[in-house]
Amino acid sequence: MVLNSVHWFRKGLRLHDNPALQGALSGADTVRCVYILDPWFAGSSNIRINRWRIIEVNGNKTPLTYKRFQTIIKRLELPKAPVNTVTLDQMEKCTRYIQENHDEKYGIPSLEELGFDTSELGPAVWQGGETEALARLCKHLERKASVANNAMPKLNADSLLSNATGLSPYLRFGCLSCRTFYYTLLQLYRMIKKHSNPPLSLYGQLLWREFFYTAATSNPNFDRMEGNPICIQIPWDTNQQALTKWADGQTGFPWIDAIMKQLRQEGWIHHLARHAVACFLTRGDLWISWEEGMKVFDEMLLDADFSVNAGSWMWLSCSALFQQFCHFYCPVGFGKRTDPNGDYVRRYLSVLQGYPAEYIYEPWNAPIEVQKAAKCIVGIHYPRPMINHVETSRLNIERMKQIYQQLSHNKGLCLLPAAPCCAADHRSSAAKSVEHGNRAGFISPKRVETVGIMGKRDKPEDTEIEDECRQAKIPCLQSPVGDGRNKQKLMLSDLSHHF
Ligand code: FAD
Ligand code: MG
Repeated sequence: MVLNSVHWFRKGLRLHDNPALQGALSGADTVRCVYILDPWFAGSSNIRINRWRIIEVNGNKTPLTYKRFQTIIKRLELPKAPVNTVTLDQMEKCTRYIQENHDEKYGIPSLEELGFDTSELGPAVWQGGETEALARLCKHLERKASVANNAMPKLNADSLLSNATGLSPYLRFGCLSCRTFYYTLLQLYRMIKKHSNPPLSLYGQLLWREFFYTAATSNPNFDRMEGNPICIQIPWDTNQQALTKWADGQTGFPWIDAIMKQLRQEGWIHHLARHAVACFLTRGDLWISWEEGMKVFDEMLLDADFSVNAGSWMWLSCSALFQQFCHFYCPVGFGKRTDPNGDYVRRYLSVLQGYPAEYIYEPWNAPIEVQKAAKCIVGIHYPRPMINHVETSRLNIERMKQIYQQLSHNKGLCLLPAAPCCAADHRSSAAKSVEHGNRAGFISPKRVETVGIMGKRDKPEDTEIEDECRQAKIPCLQSPVGDGRNKQKLMLSDLSHHF
């Protein structure tokens, strides 16, 4: 009997670690590989057995805190090793005659054929495909190896740029298997540290991805506020004009605008750049719903992923409590600290090319002679800041505190500001901005406001608190982890891999 197989490529666009393709080739006389150009398939994500297993081990409940997720993971067996890469030899045994005009009829259409206007499109910064993904994996590991022996490099102007070690678009389209990623990391670790078992933090980034996938399981409303049991119902403002300014990089804050321009041009921005613009849109400044930001990211990110994107936006906007801290980022100070010279801003906002480092993050403060010399007058060639950051962020922090205090009050859960000096910080930064005649102002980057949300101290188990929260239809709060000093440590260590 002749065995004809069809392999439908959806997300796993690769020959390595592809069990379904191996299955199709096994014993087949012919194999037809099909890919349907349909954005819906690229975006959708099905839940696979490992995630069900995590939920099962957690008493048939989705773990809703990263800490809980890690606890469950430690109890599970390692994922299965990747399967062998499909070889040319295997493929040749299953080829079938195709018509001469096959490519013409079924080949990949050009962007123009798909109706896109490409006249202003620059060269692609990210090259697609499995070959590129595997080459990047090697570079990623080389970097990890060098980092393993040294301190983690700090976030700087270079790390903000798309680089040869970025993997997210490849993982998202399955050009890179996350099992291959996992096992090569494990091998590397064993080579470097011969006798010890790797800590979970080695896979930190991969685990975050899995965590969001798991948290999205059995929650069809994970990407919206309404009807989403883990999302706090925050009364966000509706302001289409402000949203458009943010999305188009026209806020008047060069740090925010440069990031949004990079996103639009290249389809990728650094993790902390995502933090900066997400905080600005939501609880930090504009008080616009995370759903709006998520949609813009979904449209523009090459790595846009339903679960990770929605989960990260909820987290960044303090709408779901996956982690115990929320930083408030300053749209001036964060940029200054990351790239004091302002090269990143000049790269993406050519209109500010002529500005000296001193004023590049707050051009509205530059004396008019400096603005003229730079050939960019604020309010004419580049927008004025769209809000007064000092005043707005102070108001928003207050709003957020009230929302959480209300929630705490309703359920007898306590809200603890983890940085007790934040009121003083505000006063000093406000004073500083007045001193400098700074109309938009900023909160000093070194004095980041931190709000920790803690569960009741006599309820140490995450699960109990989750139960309690579910009944009350408020999001789950994390269980206590000791005193304030421990909390601070936890925050720093959780973030450290990104710096
Ligand atoms: P690396 O730091 O080198 O990490 C390696 C891989 O681990 C990444 O490629 C990614 O697959 C995974 N990873 C790393 N950090 C995270 C994280 N915090 N959460 C989940 N997975 C992570 N990532 C996406 O893949 N798709 C998204 O749609 C997405 N949306 C985001 C939205 C917001 C508001 C924020 C704050 C973060 C979002 N992220 C998203 C997570 C993260 O920013 C990117 O995965 C990371 O910047 C990709 O760069 P990299 O490949 O150099 O990551
Ligand atoms: Mg990276």
